[in-house]
Amino acid sequence: MGARERYGLTEVVNAHGTFTPLGVSRSSAGVAAAVAEALPEFFVMNELADRAGVALAAATGAEAGAITHCTAASITLAVAAAMTGTDPRRIALLPDATDMHNRVVLPAGHVVSYGQSILQAVRLSGASVILAGSSETRCTTADLDDALSVDDVSCLLLVSSRLVHGEPVDLVAAVKAAHRRGVPAIIDGAAQFPRTADLLATGADLVLVSGQKYLASPTAGLVVGSRRLVQAVRAQENGIGRGMKATKEAMVGVLTALEEWQAMDRAKWEADQDAKVSTFLAAVDQLPGLSAEILPDPTGLPLSRVLLKVAAGIDSAKLAAELQTGSPAVFVLPQPDALVLELVPLDPHEVQTVVNRLVQALQALQN
Ligand SMILES: *Cc1c(COP(=O)(O)O)cnc(C)c1O
Repeated sequence: MGARERYGLTEVVNAHGTFTPLGVSRSSAGVAAAVAEALPEFFVMNELADRAGVALAAATGAEAGAITHCTAASITLAVAAAMTGTDPRRIALLPDATDMHNRVVLPAGHVVSYGQSILQAVRLSGASVILAGSSETRCTTADLDDALSVDDVSCLLLVSSRLVHGEPVDLVAAVKAAHRRGVPAIIDGAAQFPRTADLLATGADLVLVSGQKYLASPTAGLVVGSRRLVQAVRAQENGIGRGMKATKEAMVGVLTALEEWQAMDRAKWEADQDAKVSTFLAAVDQLPGLSAEILPDPTGLPLSRVLLKVAAGIDSAKLAAELQTGSPAVFVLPQPDALVLELVPLDPHEVQTVVNRLVQALQALQN
């Protein structure tokens, strides 16, 4: 009997995506087995962390890598690293960053919330934020230059995510602007594991990715980039990073998930995802009141979602709520007049369950 049955918890079909309130992702049987084997063992934790760092660097092409508890932790610790380097005195002083370069430049449109505002993840380190941009939705390279011209800037923080708003910020130009001032650039690409190499190719000094999102490892923050900053991130473990450390099971899980990722036939994976989306579209085509189309990922991830448009007279929020109240509870992302579904972690049987529950939910709304 699994934990869900033993504790009487809701049966979930997650068509929302890599969503933290639903447990994010499904680890493979291989990752689960490696974690189960690791839990009763002791390790020299620094040795395990070194080994994980080497694997991360090899898998992403970065100079170095480290693991933290999660990407929210990585944001706090990357900013801390930019302020303190590996200086033990400064590390011990945080979150009092009074005498350090302690301001972080962030494009206004990159103030995202993933359950916590990214502003708070920065402030937890002791740093404060300078928002760059002529408006909340527009931040040009000149705006960044302006914000970076203050002399106590510790780093530039950028976000690569579908959560950002406004006109896209040119990440390559932004990183260049920071480097012209001798300031390191950090990119939060939490839900972009398959694009890690692209994000590193912008020239960013650190790229932060969540292990538990598209790598489907246990919860872990993957930090890759320059050796100097990666070491400074790890050094925070004797300071504010104590409560943000990676567990042995996370590190072993990431190592195994990276091996599986590298051995995987990427083209076949993409074709499998496309096939699920096509099957779903064909099934929904038969349902009155709905029309579905393929929604490519706006950030360039190699996967598509389903945009399910509802006919006039159907409330998309009510339809989403109805899907959630049945059994199994089907979670989707409601939008105005539409639902967005991500099918990546679902097996074909669950895709059919989503179709069946949609039929039921539409009927329930009509009664
Ligand atoms: C999910 C997410 C985070 C937080 O990642 P965790 O690993 O859950 O802490 C941060 N930034 C963005 C853009 C995210 O999507």
